[in-house]
Amino acid sequence: MNTLELKKPGFAERLIRLLYPVKCMCCGVILREDTVLSLCEACYKMLPRCECGFYETFRLPYIDGLFSAFHYEQGIDKAIQEMKFKNQPGLAKTLAYILGEEYMKEPVFPPVDLIIPVPMHRSKKRQRGFNQAELLAERISGYLNIPLDKTSLVKVRNTKPQSSLARMQRLNNLENAFEIKNIWNIKDKNILLVDDVITTGTTIDTCGKILYESGAAKIYAMVLAIAGN
Ligand SMILES: [Zn+2]
Repeated sequence: MNTLELKKPGFAERLIRLLYPVKCMCCGVILREDTVLSLCEACYKMLPRCECGFYETFRLPYIDGLFSAFHYEQGIDKAIQEMKFKNQPGLAKTLAYILGEEYMKEPVFPPVDLIIPVPMHRSKKRQRGFNQAELLAERISGYLNIPLDKTSLVKVRNTKPQSSLARMQRLNNLENAFEIKNIWNIKDKNILLVDDVITTGTTIDTCGKILYESGAAKIYAMVLAIAGN
C-alpha cells in the first residue's frame, strides 16, 4: 500500500522495547516490540485525513499551494503535543511517515527545488532540544529526494508563541522575526516550506513573504495538521 521505505527495528532496539514498550502515539495502546511505527492499526485506519491536495487560500497570499495531511484532532493533536512538549522527538519518524504517505497519494506534485523547515529561534531550539519542523522536513526531503536547506531562512527574534495571541497581534509579533541568510540559495527556486501545525497560517505566510521578496519563484507549504477549520 505504501511506497515509502521504513527500517524495521534492530535486535538492540527490540530489546530496549521489551523494557520500554512502544505505545500508539494516538491512543496509547502498547504495541508489539517489532512494530515499525508508533501507531496501532485501528488508529492508522481512523486518521483524520484531509485528502484535499494542494490548494490556494486567500488567507495565505504568499503561499502558492498548501498541503495539509491531517486535521488537528482525533489523536493526531495528542501525538504532536507529545512530540513537542513531552520531549519525544522520536515520534517525528511516525509522523513524517504518515505525512509522506498522504503526500504520495497526490496525483500531481508541484515542482519543488528545495525543502525548507519553518525555523525556530536558536534559544527556543536549545530549550526544546529540537525543531519538530526540521525533523519532519529531514525525512520528507529523504522520501522525495529533494535537497533540504536548514540555513537560508532563520528566525532571528525569539517571539511569543503565536497560539497565545489574537489574529492581529500574530502579525505584529512576527515583524522582522525572520531573515534570509543566503539569498543565492533561494533565488528563482521553487520552495516547499514544512511545518507541523498550521492554525491561522500567519507564521508560514510570513516565511513565504520574505522568501518571495528575496527572489524565490514559487512557495508551497506542507504541514502535518491543520487546526481550527
Ligand atoms: Zn492507537
